[in-house]
Amino acid sequence: MSYQQLTAQSVLSYLQQQPEMTEFFTDFNQLEVREIGDGNLNFVYRIKDLSSNKSVILKQAVPYVRCIGESYPLSRHRMDFEIAALLNAKHHCPEHVPEIYHYSKDQSLVVMQDLGELAILRGEIIKGKVFPLFAEHISSYMANTLFRSSDLFLSSEDKKAQVKQFVNVSLCKLTEDFVFTNAYMDHETNEYNTALAQSAIDRVQKDPAVKIAVAQMRYKFMNNAQALLHGDLHIGSIMAGPEHTYVIDPEFAFYGPMGFDVGAVIGNLYMSYFSHAYESAISGEQSVAYRQWLLETIQAIWHSFASKFKTQWLAHEAQKQDGYWRFAGAEQALSQYIDGFINELFADTIGFAACKMMRRVLGLAKVADFADIPDLEQRAAIETNIIEHATQMIVNRHNYDSIEQLNLQATRILP
Ligand code: ADP
Ligand code: MG
Repeated sequence: MSYQQLTAQSVLSYLQQQPEMTEFFTDFNQLEVREIGDGNLNFVYRIKDLSSNKSVILKQAVPYVRCIGESYPLSRHRMDFEIAALLNAKHHCPEHVPEIYHYSKDQSLVVMQDLGELAILRGEIIKGKVFPLFAEHISSYMANTLFRSSDLFLSSEDKKAQVKQFVNVSLCKLTEDFVFTNAYMDHETNEYNTALAQSAIDRVQKDPAVKIAVAQMRYKFMNNAQALLHGDLHIGSIMAGPEHTYVIDPEFAFYGPMGFDVGAVIGNLYMSYFSHAYESAISGEQSVAYRQWLLETIQAIWHSFASKFKTQWLAHEAQKQDGYWRFAGAEQALSQYIDGFINELFADTIGFAACKMMRRVLGLAKVADFADIPDLEQRAAIETNIIEHATQMIVNRHNYDSIEQLNLQATRILP
């Protein structure tokens, strides 16, 4: 069947033709369809059986950017990448990826588990909610998906076949432009808070050290096919509750540097940290304690990620048949090699986190943590702090010995 953009009406007749769905839903007369997408690019429907309360989510890509309209074309084949990445992540980390019930590349759609009882993490963090298991869960997700899609785990042939499958031209171009280019110069797509001082903008756009560092991160993003990345792992792509964490929306998936995913999580949590200086949802001591939780979470994410990554690597080497790491002192040498690899990954993580932060302040796409604050002066104070932290991070990314040092820098900017 040729591609058709579904509507709330046609969703049902489509589902009725899919064997997986006639097994899932018994009575199609009881189904209610609601469009729930708050995203920028695609259409998302919830289909619910009103008698049993069973439900699914159907997400369909359209051949343009939804929030702009048909005047901004974007290949609907981005859904091919989302489907393949979801299946891959489900395979390596089933507990943090929704169940996939049905997909169609022809129709650019996927039908998946409804995570309705969970909420998008960004909104919850803005409200000041604590998620004690988040660091544990997201570090597992990243360690599993990144390690197991890399040359450290896959055979050389399998890895290259994967790289080939995930050449995601149009969505990588969006990242190259919006995360690594436009925000760092005077560009028509940028949007600045009018209360933000020119000196803060210049710090990002005119400081030679920052410009060189961003150009280096951009080149690394484009040329370092280490692992299959989620590609857009900000806290708006994570749904969480007290006990569960799920990662959704991997349409930007491609083979890139591991630090880009880890940096996305950490950079977004730093933006939340600085944004909680504005006391709306919570206030006073509560917001100080909340900021502390955010820093502890950043710390725990990095440590757990690094430790899980290393554990998997050692386990994988231990069951390999080749003799490369079999000589007197090999155990120590391997450990040293892994630690060196993780140190480089740490520097990348910091550099990419910084880009994720700077572009949210100056570029087109903002984050609600600070962009929804009505008082522009207060918002500018937050944005200035984010720029301060991020510019130091990117320039000094090779010089931090620990995540604690990075947190210390954040607390020097905002105690
Ligand atoms: P986009 O790619 O257009 O940004 P997302 O995949 O982020 O779309 O989905 C948009 C919104 O739809 C999410 O923010 C979330 O509120 C909702 N959503 C997406 N997938 C699910 C799911 N599996 N369960 C429940 N809600 C979902
Ligand atoms: Mg998306």
